[in-house]
Amino acid sequence: MEPPNIERLDERTVQRIAAGEVVERPASVVKELIENSLDAGATRVAVSAEAGGTEGIRVRDDGVGIPPDQLEAAVAEHATSKIGDIEDLDHGVGTLGFRGEALYTVGAVSRLTVRSRPPGADAGAEITVEGGDVGDVRPAGCPEGTTAEVDDLFYNTPARKKFLKRIATEFDRINTVVTGYALANPDVAVSLEHDGRETFATEGNGDLRSAVLAVYGREVAEAMVDVEWEPDSSTTDPPVRGVSGLVSHPETTRSTREYLATYVNGRYVTASALREAVLDAYGGQLAPDRYPFAVLFVEVPPGDVDVNVHPRKLEVRFDEEPAVRDAVEEAVEEALLDHGLIRSTAPRG
Ligand code: ADP
Ligand code: MG
Repeated sequence: MEPPNIERLDERTVQRIAAGEVVERPASVVKELIENSLDAGATRVAVSAEAGGTEGIRVRDDGVGIPPDQLEAAVAEHATSKIGDIEDLDHGVGTLGFRGEALYTVGAVSRLTVRSRPPGADAGAEITVEGGDVGDVRPAGCPEGTTAEVDDLFYNTPARKKFLKRIATEFDRINTVVTGYALANPDVAVSLEHDGRETFATEGNGDLRSAVLAVYGREVAEAMVDVEWEPDSSTTDPPVRGVSGLVSHPETTRSTREYLATYVNGRYVTASALREAVLDAYGGQLAPDRYPFAVLFVEVPPGDVDVNVHPRKLEVRFDEEPAVRDAVEEAVEEALLDHGLIRSTAPRG
């Protein structure tokens, strides 16, 4: 065997390898774009996808917008308006994004156009990035807010493209992502469209039950009961500040865990501890391999949960996991007991 000849990869290759880490599939693009819209304070976010997002993805919002002279920075690597330095990270990040890499990365593996007009500005502008090549900023007629359009995702990374699943499967994943944000933000009108047909549209009236009705339909919405838990007022610095949301009647279930949605400090997360706590609360009232619907918001002190994890990973760990688990179980159990949906197994006090 010949000794290896070690060479440094060229910029473009490095860029595309890194992109594959963040942007795995159309749903990951949708996630990043919605997060940007929410961080921009949007009250309306309209998502549309063509062919499961493989041919086109568009996210339009009515947020703060990006001034024309900032468009280039918006698509540049490690450029963000959301944190200044490492200290900001340690204090807990209040926005969904902060790495400043999403637009840069998406632009590396697609044809990305960002078009924006800050509210009140006379005119808008747009910028296009094609496979990492950043074009000039051009004037563009557009409504107030921002539209990000992603065409031909992975056109220049055939290996990644080959790895995509059927269109229906890719769209399902997009639907899951958009649903997750729609439920987490009942005060934002979120809509989703696939190949020109509306999948759902929430009203954005601030009512969680109305958002559930829009995404899951009447049968599910009517089977949901309110969860509202607060720590004992005598506790100083409680490890859990609150648990709220909706959970379903034990007979309104599905065969996958997908509809058991948990949010920590507003961020969609998967945590086996949370899921188990919810299931335990049903105390054996669920049929085998059936999972309830849940939309549960858990509030913990920001420093007790790490958000600086890999962008694609949703799994979180808590400093005070047993306390979080107990609070969630108690919260759900109380809600179900109050509505006579489970029987009390042990005297409570
Ligand atoms: P991050 O969200 O981590 O800051 P992004 O690459 O996703 O990084 O976005 C870069 C910057 O572009 C953001 O910090 C923000 O200033 C701006 N931006 C992106 N999308 C929007 C949007 N929809 N509305 C307003 N500003 C946006
Ligand atoms: Mg972002």
